[in-house]
Amino acid sequence: MVSVIIPAYNEHENIRRTASVIGGILSDAHIAYELVFVDDGSKDDTWSEICEANAADENVRGVRFSRNFGKEGAIFAGLSAAAGDCAVLIDCDLQHPPELIPKMYSMWESGAEVVEAVKSSRGRESLLYKLFAKSFYKMMKSSSGIDLDGASDFKLLDRKVVDALNEMPERMTFFRALSSWVGFHTERIEFDVKPRAAGSTKWSFRKLFRYALNNITSFTNLPIHLITLVGVIFGIFALILGIHTLVNYFCGNAAEGFSTVILLILIVGACVLVGIGVIGFYLSKIYEEIKHRPRYIVSERIGIERPSGKADGK
Ligand code: UDP
Ligand code: MG
Repeated sequence: MVSVIIPAYNEHENIRRTASVIGGILSDAHIAYELVFVDDGSKDDTWSEICEANAADENVRGVRFSRNFGKEGAIFAGLSAAAGDCAVLIDCDLQHPPELIPKMYSMWESGAEVVEAVKSSRGRESLLYKLFAKSFYKMMKSSSGIDLDGASDFKLLDRKVVDALNEMPERMTFFRALSSWVGFHTERIEFDVKPRAAGSTKWSFRKLFRYALNNITSFTNLPIHLITLVGVIFGIFALILGIHTLVNYFCGNAAEGFSTVILLILIVGACVLVGIGVIGFYLSKIYEEIKHRPRYIVSERIGIERPSGKADGK
């Protein structure tokens, strides 16, 4: 059986269409399935739509969060609720073509443990957004070696991979990179991003920016090493300028003017503050992690037993 995990936040227009489209495709392909909708604290009728979809098709299941915890939390809640031999992650807005699922499934049957769907085109996105995404992926690749260009959350994962991800202890997760970090036999398949079926994007620029910062810092310590590098460069400058000043002093020349002093104070001050800021950012992340709060809190379930043993979101 394949578990299809569908995070949904304020997607009431999409739930039933998505459920019937994906359900239809999988039953036509004679693949046993369950659809796990994760309602990420929606403020609209998403949950009642999920309950109705469950009444119409018993393969539809649902998990409801107590508030909005973000897509990452929703993905991990879906992974821990999934009962299938493999799991597919897909967006609720049908931007990820569900027609690909049977193909991904057959790749899985012939031995792939992770099937990544990569974007061959990025769909309709603004130039700024594309630029932002490109530089984020470049930074991730050069600093952590994980190539995310074209990566999406549309993936098929074998049971082993799902279990490995469920074992991850960290609270601040970045699913896209973690699923490649765990390794396993990975195959790729291309797809074109389609326009949203209904509704609008749930990501604001601020939310995306914070998401990018969090993900960079959870996969690389490069920013901290950069501080050291800047320190070394300044040290070399200091040496040259120091010798210059001393030579001037012993030759009886007057020291350089105030402009040099002012510039030095400003530049060094800015570097020190940025450095402290970067360290502070990592520190706050460590603080978040050691609080050991759950990734999400479930308020209701439909069609799913409460997982025994492990607490939710831990
Ligand atoms: N989503 C979520 N929680 C959030 C934001 C988004 O579960 O806080 C879900 C959303 O319902 C959708 C998927 O994540 O199924 C992708 O979101 P969206 O389509 O808004 O992102 P985009 O495709 O514009 O990148
Ligand atoms: Mg979308």
